[in-house]
Amino acid sequence: MNTNSEHQCDVLVIGSGAAGLSLALRVAPHGKVIVLSKGPRNEGSTYYAQGGIAAVFDEEDSVESHIEDTLIAGAGICEKDAVSFITKNAKECVQWLIDGGVPFDLDENDKSEHPRHHLTREGGHSHRRILHAADATGMAMQTNLQDNVNNHPNIHFLERYNALDLITEDRIGGDAKKVVGAYIWNRNQEHVESVRAKFVVLATGGASKVYQYTSNPDVSSGDGIAMAWRSGCRVANLEFNQFHPTCLFHPEARNFLLTEALRGEGAYLKRPDGSRFMPDFDQRGELAPRDIVARAIDYEMKRLGADCMYLDISHKPADFIEKHFPTINMRLLDLGIDMTKEPIPIVPAAHYTCGGVMVNQQGQTDLANLYAVGEVTYTGLHGANRLASNSLLECVVYAWSAAKDIIANFDEVKLPPALPYWDESQVTNSDEEVILQHNWHELRLFMWDYMGIVRTDKRLERALRRIQLLQQETHEYYSHFRVSNNLLELRNLLQVAELMVRCAMTRKESRGLHYTLDYPEQLENSGPTILEPEKFRTSNPLF
Ligand SMILES: Cc1cc2nc3c(=O)[nH]c(=O)nc-3n(C[C@H](O)[C@H](O)[C@H](O)COP(=O)(O)OP(=O)(O)OC[C@H]3O[C@@H](n4cnc5c(N)ncnc54)[C@H](O)[C@@H]3O)c2cc1C
Repeated sequence: MNTNSEHQCDVLVIGSGAAGLSLALRVAPHGKVIVLSKGPRNEGSTYYAQGGIAAVFDEEDSVESHIEDTLIAGAGICEKDAVSFITKNAKECVQWLIDGGVPFDLDENDKSEHPRHHLTREGGHSHRRILHAADATGMAMQTNLQDNVNNHPNIHFLERYNALDLITEDRIGGDAKKVVGAYIWNRNQEHVESVRAKFVVLATGGASKVYQYTSNPDVSSGDGIAMAWRSGCRVANLEFNQFHPTCLFHPEARNFLLTEALRGEGAYLKRPDGSRFMPDFDQRGELAPRDIVARAIDYEMKRLGADCMYLDISHKPADFIEKHFPTINMRLLDLGIDMTKEPIPIVPAAHYTCGGVMVNQQGQTDLANLYAVGEVTYTGLHGANRLASNSLLECVVYAWSAAKDIIANFDEVKLPPALPYWDESQVTNSDEEVILQHNWHELRLFMWDYMGIVRTDKRLERALRRIQLLQQETHEYYSHFRVSNNLLELRNLLQVAELMVRCAMTRKESRGLHYTLDYPEQLENSGPTILEPEKFRTSNPLF
């Protein structure tokens, strides 16, 4: 038994991105909230979002058109009710952000007393409907939400704490399908504590760190998906990983993203010889959805044996580029690339996890009192591919709907009694961290090679075999040694990698982001891939 401290609150929010902070602010007037962040509190995908957030604000645009664009991008398997729910509530939820002080850009051509917001257009959208704060929308949102959270007396922040596993009521003699708290690892003091709560919310973001190349920050290791699965929640559509087509290819910049808005504003994709290639693949050219663009780049790179392709906006006036893309321009200038004069080298990189923990429209998971919001979830919005700028929107709409449901049940759900302490009596300090480092690298590399943009049955089988081997080693390690960040993340990434590969193996067709050479055609009838934990308990001894 070790040092044990227990926290208690009404709502435990695991994750401090757009989803977690929005939900925390919505429920805070009703009770005590604890927000957990694994790293520094602003570190998550939200902070790095560049392009913006989609919502119908223009009179010439319509919710129907937003629905249609989302359904087209989703390649026929979006849940129509979810798409309609999110797009219909988009304007009100984005207005909540505006009212809270998020400084979205205004339209400088509108000289009226209350100027409209400037709306930009991105690939797959048939109208200008993206609100943005120059090219650093996520930073503006994260900073503003964080300021509001910091000023709220009911919200307590636990920074540099990893949620390790959920605690279900059977641990205190109750229902295995009811969540009563979580074990959390205090990274500063390196010991495990617990939180008991009436409601627990997973807002842990995506799992793109499972891939060698990713636009995501280090915290995107799929922890929420793995924790929910281990506790008995269903997951869905994890074969659909979006690869952002245009990440900077530069040895000194780790996958710096070049926003979709560059192509929206007229940038061309070019081969090393300067010729355009997108018109050969899709009549929408550079504005085709991301999966088509990423595959076209992958195809051209493989065909030509090139290390990268190029994104070129230098035909636009320099002052236009500097004004619309100030952050990107500055970063590139630091690296010696002048985007106003020359093309930018790019490669695709893992960017967004379309699937995740299954939730209903109130953000409820399969377990009582456990909610999930944001990129960690499968809501049905994205189908087989995410439409650009719909994900920040999904975060704020589901934060609103889940918060509403939590508030409605606030008095009915009681704070659970004291929880059992974390037992560390059987473990010692790790003797060989090198195993973890090695397994980390191995996992990310073979996921890139075998479960990447183009798949085959053989590649998936290879990936699964390797995952199972690494799971075995990591499981042994987990049983014998004290936890560390590397160990916790590796354990979760292996779990999510397994779920991704199993989803991919189940889908015998190519659709949206899932492309396999063995089944290149799209089936006439298809739906989401749903995995149920009960079905795997017997087949996987490590579960
Ligand atoms: C470079 C980039 C650009 C993007 N651009 C756009 C865009 O323009 N428009 C758009 O709509 N979407 C964009 N996206 C996607 C979008 O940013 C994300 O989908 C969204 O921000 C996810 O928000 P979230 O709150 O769900 O998770 P995140 O913002 O990723 O936050 C996750 C939080 O969970 C915490 N966490 C994770 N695991 C644990 C754990 N075990 N214990 C405790 N805390 C944990 C992290 O510390 C973090 O605080 C972009 C993504 C990237 C990476």
